Amino acid sequence: MPINSIISLFKEVLDNSSILLGEDLKSRFYHIWKTDISLESLCLLLPRSSEEVSAVVKICNDNNQEIVIHGGLTNLVGSTISTKTQVVVSLEKMNKIIEIDEKGKTITCESGVIIEDIINVVKDKDLLLPLNFGARGSAQIGGAVSTNAGGLRVFKYGMTRNLVLGIEAVLPDGTVISSLKKLMKDNSGYDLKQLFIGSEGTLGIVTKVVLRLYRLPKTRFTSLAVTNNYQNVLNLLKIMEDRVSSNLTGYELLWNDTYKQMVGDKTLYNKYLPDNYKYYVFIEYMGGDFENDYTHFESIILDCIDRRVIDDAVIGKDDKEQVNIWGIREDVAVLADERDFDQQFDISIPVPLIGEVIDKISLELKDCKGVKTIFPFGHVADGNIHFIIGKDSDDDDLKSKINDIIYDNTQLVAGSISAEHGIGLDKKKYLIKSRSEDEIELMRLIKKSIDPKNILNPGRVI
Ligand SMILES: Cc1cc2nc3c(=O)[nH]c(=O)nc-3n(C[C@H](O)[C@H](O)[C@H](O)COP(=O)(O)OP(=O)(O)OC[C@H]3O[C@@H](n4cnc5c(N)ncnc54)[C@H](O)[C@@H]3O)c2cc1C
Repeated sequence: MPINSIISLFKEVLDNSSILLGEDLKSRFYHIWKTDISLESLCLLLPRSSEEVSAVVKICNDNNQEIVIHGGLTNLVGSTISTKTQVVVSLEKMNKIIEIDEKGKTITCESGVIIEDIINVVKDKDLLLPLNFGARGSAQIGGAVSTNAGGLRVFKYGMTRNLVLGIEAVLPDGTVISSLKKLMKDNSGYDLKQLFIGSEGTLGIVTKVVLRLYRLPKTRFTSLAVTNNYQNVLNLLKIMEDRVSSNLTGYELLWNDTYKQMVGDKTLYNKYLPDNYKYYVFIEYMGGDFENDYTHFESIILDCIDRRVIDDAVIGKDDKEQVNIWGIREDVAVLADERDFDQQFDISIPVPLIGEVIDKISLELKDCKGVKTIFPFGHVADGNIHFIIGKDSDDDDLKSKINDIIYDNTQLVAGSISAEHGIGLDKKKYLIKSRSEDEIELMRLIKKSIDPKNILNPGRVI
């Protein structure tokens, strides 16, 4: 269909301010960091309601028009890149909070609400949305649901999937599937919301969600502890699980090079502990009894030092100290700026094997000509380790060599090539290293039956 004809159809269902074309597209981007590359698209649509999303999607389906969905544009797998012939649908104007149910501990909102806004609004009601990751100030809840985002509290609260009670989504033919129930248990037939969680916008556009909330813990303490031995990272975790139990909400790890770079002379972060240890563990404790919780937490940390499980530690008690300590972990994304080009990874490895596998990968990467910096870090308690690898060139051979080192080693221990970021466009070629042919075939079958014309986020995942 000629461009003008499909635009005139969009004009019948959206007002002019919700349709961006031509020159206006130059001020829009496909990724939050790539703000020097303008968006390529036929047009960008900004619907304000589920009805508008449905009308737009129906027009596209009727006219075999491909759509790329934009949330907060923080994904790290090339998911939101588009071409001149594709229509971009952004959810950013669907940013209303519909209801906070304080008694039932749920929030219902549109999918374009920024995650941090949800965290703040429920905090005022003494409730907690435990989703916590570096991009929370830009990522939208619809993006988090569509990628099944993880983050820093997964081993305690689970992935986004564990927080979603209800979903409304628009199917590729424009049908609105709405199940905004607030139930924790519902075994009445297939759990259809799971189709849209983690499928990266290939099966539907998420327009509304109901999320499960928790009571806001009254206390929060943080410790940064060091050791040179991976077995002690595991020993410390076991002690924390035994003695702190459900109050343990975060357990993160930075390797030496990563810590050293984060607290180096040129950065804003305090060097709380010397930079000559191999492992830096970040521990988050949340509870309900300020004086006793602190004493308890401190006594465990001191005991671990006495027993030489850890070599040294600091504890952050007030908010400012904790923000500063966690900044070293949460802001690691700045390390991508160390070189002109970078590759980022989020692999899953069985927890007991992490020490040796990361050592092996790091050695192989050091031998790889063209690799300049290697920064491993991650959510060690749930087996998810990230790498930011810096390079001075974007050469395809080098890219493949780095991918092979990481993914072959991951496959050797039956790990996953994506613990949380998803597959997008960038990792599609490597999906076979994590999933069997039969599994991928079943994914294709599901995609084909829900989106037979392949109009929604085409080419992503499979
Ligand atoms: C600094 C930084 C730290 C990060 N840390 C983590 C982390 O710890 N854990 C983690 O899991 N991820 C992390 N990420 C990755 C990213 O933030 C998540 O994948 C996030 O969930 C993406 O949300 P978004 O709104 O930005 O989605 P986008 O990037 O806009 O889109 C992601 C995918 O979802 C689709 N999509 C978006 N909205 C919708 C919708 N409403 N309906 C259907 N499909 C949709 C898009 O088409 C795309 O395929 C990090 C990213 C950065 C930049």
